[in-house]
Amino acid sequence: MSSSVLSALHEVLGSRGLLAAESVDERYLVDVLGNRGEPPLAVIRPADTRQVSAALAICHAAGRPVITQGGRTGLALGQLPRAGEIVLSTERMNAIEEIDPDAGTATVQAGVVLQALQEKVEPQGLMFPLDLGGRGSCTIGGNIATNAGGNRVVRYGMARELVLGLEAVLADGTVLDGLKPLLKNNTGPDLKQLFIGSEGVLGVVTRAVVRLFPLPADRTVALCAVADFGRVKALLRHARAGLAGDLTAFEVMWDSYYDRAVTLLGRAAPIAPGRAYHVLIEACGTEAAALADKVERMLQGALEQEIVADAVLAKSGAEIAQLWKVRDLAIEASRLLDPIVPFDVSVPIARMEAFVAEVQAATKAVDPRCDLLVFGHLADGNLHLAVHQPPDRPEAFHAIEQAVYGVVGRFRGSVSAEHGIGWLKREYLQHSRSPAEIAVMRTLKTALDPRNILNPHRIFLP
Ligand code: ZN
Repeated sequence: MSSSVLSALHEVLGSRGLLAAESVDERYLVDVLGNRGEPPLAVIRPADTRQVSAALAICHAAGRPVITQGGRTGLALGQLPRAGEIVLSTERMNAIEEIDPDAGTATVQAGVVLQALQEKVEPQGLMFPLDLGGRGSCTIGGNIATNAGGNRVVRYGMARELVLGLEAVLADGTVLDGLKPLLKNNTGPDLKQLFIGSEGVLGVVTRAVVRLFPLPADRTVALCAVADFGRVKALLRHARAGLAGDLTAFEVMWDSYYDRAVTLLGRAAPIAPGRAYHVLIEACGTEAAALADKVERMLQGALEQEIVADAVLAKSGAEIAQLWKVRDLAIEASRLLDPIVPFDVSVPIARMEAFVAEVQAATKAVDPRCDLLVFGHLADGNLHLAVHQPPDRPEAFHAIEQAVYGVVGRFRGSVSAEHGIGWLKREYLQHSRSPAEIAVMRTLKTALDPRNILNPHRIFLP
């Protein structure tokens, strides 16, 4: 049966569009962390929406599962193939079709690499504000399918807020053309939102109209040392009031993170360790002098009101890069605790301090050697945690996950703020979603993909 599917796919995709099992390159099997999938039946590389539609119609008729891949930078194992699946790679659908500077929109195909779009619009004085560590290989289609967040969410929102129009292909090959560049379009349920953040289980994103913004002329970054969590919250309020729409990042590093990151820097720390929290604040504006003035006044006020114990302000592009470097050492700093159990959770800011204390207690109860490192996009309520797993107790991985997600559930948080459920966190979906919500999600899945061929068993356990 699989050979007839392959020959039908070959007919519509041609030789460039179909790699049979024996010629499948290694790169379709691994993610950025080195996790491996199983060899797929084939890799298909459609050139356009029409080919995606024709290929899915064939797979639907045959009941053959399909897993969609963008840049494979996902961190939830959702994009890795399982035996018998067909990988649908969007890598050939990489055209930036149109940039409209007047409307502030770009029309792109799903396989466009994020950084390629960022660089394409910059010379026109425009910015696509979505930004994350995987920018050099992640794709816009993947960003949309996973509702990517990253560093500038506090100002510009997540991928969901940046998509105006969307084209998606359903499991049976039906093309849903919602590619309208309209900010306002109240004509019943907003179907594009079904495909944003649903990790490819409801349809394949093929093209999108995304929002562009004026490229800010200037950027300023400050690093602040703060003595306690009450003052971290006060600083967020103070920065929001003082910088208003110019605030683009508010990143908080617990001492467990900051102290390790500065030892990795290999030169003098911008602020000596020893305080409970360090906050990186970024502001972007259209007028350099006015922006510098605003940030300095905001910092001055924070020092006078004793919200901040110490602060440094970057004066040049090089100094800005140096301050960001402390925060960008996230992976390296976390790996000092190797082996680790990583988490990407959301909790209400008001309850964050109590949350971290409970996570600490719950993981120590699993094993007193469990050490914890915390940092995150605090203004978004998003914390990244790394918990050390004692290497002589492999079974502790699962126990640590259960302990932490149990606390997340009690705090009415989210088991995934940014990275998604994928394959990795299916068991914990119930800590963030009620039985009624999961039932509605499953109803949608069955309605749009009755034969369960799109990214099967991702998000939901079988
Ligand atoms: Zn993040």
